[in-house]
Amino acid sequence: KVRVRFAPSPTGGLHLGGVRTALFNYLFAKQHNGTFVLRIEDTDQTRFVEGAEQYIMDCLKWCGLTPDESPENPGEFGPYRQSERKPYYLQYAKQLIEAGHAYYAFDTPEELDAIRKVEPNFVYNQKSRLKMRNSLTMSASEVSEWLSEGKPYVVRIFIPEHEQVEFNDLIRGEVKFETNIVDDKVLLKADGMPTYHLAVVVDDYAMKISHVFRGEEWLPSAPIHILLWKYLGWEDEMPQWAHLPLILKPDGNGKLSKRDGDRLGFPVFAMNWEDPASGSLTTGFKEMGFLPEAFVNMLAMLGWNAGTEQEIFDLEELVKNFDIERVSKAGAKFDFEKAKWYNHQWIQITDVDQLFELVNQQLKEQGITESKSKIISVINLIKDRCNLLPDFIKQSSFFFVTPSNIDFSAVSGKWDINKTNFYKQFIEEINKELTSLEYENLFKDLALKLSLKTGELMLPLRIMLVGGKFGPGVFDIASVIGAEELKKRINLALE
Ligand code: GLU
Repeated sequence: KVRVRFAPSPTGGLHLGGVRTALFNYLFAKQHNGTFVLRIEDTDQTRFVEGAEQYIMDCLKWCGLTPDESPENPGEFGPYRQSERKPYYLQYAKQLIEAGHAYYAFDTPEELDAIRKVEPNFVYNQKSRLKMRNSLTMSASEVSEWLSEGKPYVVRIFIPEHEQVEFNDLIRGEVKFETNIVDDKVLLKADGMPTYHLAVVVDDYAMKISHVFRGEEWLPSAPIHILLWKYLGWEDEMPQWAHLPLILKPDGNGKLSKRDGDRLGFPVFAMNWEDPASGSLTTGFKEMGFLPEAFVNMLAMLGWNAGTEQEIFDLEELVKNFDIERVSKAGAKFDFEKAKWYNHQWIQITDVDQLFELVNQQLKEQGITESKSKIISVINLIKDRCNLLPDFIKQSSFFFVTPSNIDFSAVSGKWDINKTNFYKQFIEEINKELTSLEYENLFKDLALKLSLKTGELMLPLRIMLVGGKFGPGVFDIASVIGAEELKKRINLALE
């Protein structure tokens, strides 16, 4: 039975790497009729950020990656927050000590700091542990004395010398580590809380996790975890490992501005706290105007592809097509221009009623209220010019507000009284609402009658209606703003 987990620490915003890990876990789970678990890894109380857990759940929901089991929707393997699982860990730390795979270390933080001042590269490992104050160098009676006196201690894993730790990574294949390069990591802290290393193994075991998909930054921790699985006697139940490729900035081929490359550091949503990783960013991908479908589609392609030309996938298709075998080892380049391309594609295929809700909300924020049918006409006219949702506002304000700046400079040299008369007559002939085609016919017929060239009349009309040389088809604009507004704008321009 497939059970996977996304195990974020509530220490800040959720960034691209994190949410992609969640997505790949989700896709794998759904593809195998498995269970997608959200476990909150909050054992490091010093880095805990109030609100971060809720924020993570909201981001997952926005992406459509709702967990099957989570703190707010617990299954039978709860609790789903490590801070609430504290009693589980101690017994395993003791079990490891009894079996000689872990030991008590009494060195105080001050003592360790003092050593690091002289030896900045100091690590607690096979060599140095014999010079430290721990249950390997103290007599058994001294150790029990110190323990009963309540002297603070940590529990460290005893990493053996000259051993190979080997495992098969679903993405990387055979991976080998030499234990000599691994240090004696702390398993249980002085406050009785486990560290990540102990907690992650105990919980993956207790929650019957079958596969661990996590970022490549955790690869160096894998040997510690594998040794713990073995030392705790759970080797047969060990999950399969898959370390996902890093997400990189696009390389400096000069095409992308630095600013766009830096978008890599943006979170899914803006945060309302000071984030240790990215400061207090008031913008995330949602606020930039990404559709969740496009965002998820873009994320899926960071390190994976279907092996076909297809690039646009909805979540359901991703579940069908995703293949862990096709996830690459090489780092995936994040390109903000490409991200916008995905959003552009999704804007074209998203149901217009759904776009209406999003665009209308933005219009309201600008103080613009309009009928649904008019807004929908506008959306249909301009959506092929929009990459991000705020582009709808930039591209459409002239549909709703009479332009205050008319830039006639492009046509001023070629103006004469015949043209003025043309436009006056044009608006006189309009006595009802016309369709785009009716406007066009009326306009062309009148030009023919007055022996004027339509080509020379179109640009001035556009400028009168929108204020400059931009926008979709000018007769489309005319029919959307309506006869009265059209007359008003032409009259204003002719004044
Ligand atoms: N708590 C770790 C994190 O914040 C989880 C790593 C793992 O999945 O093992 O990413």
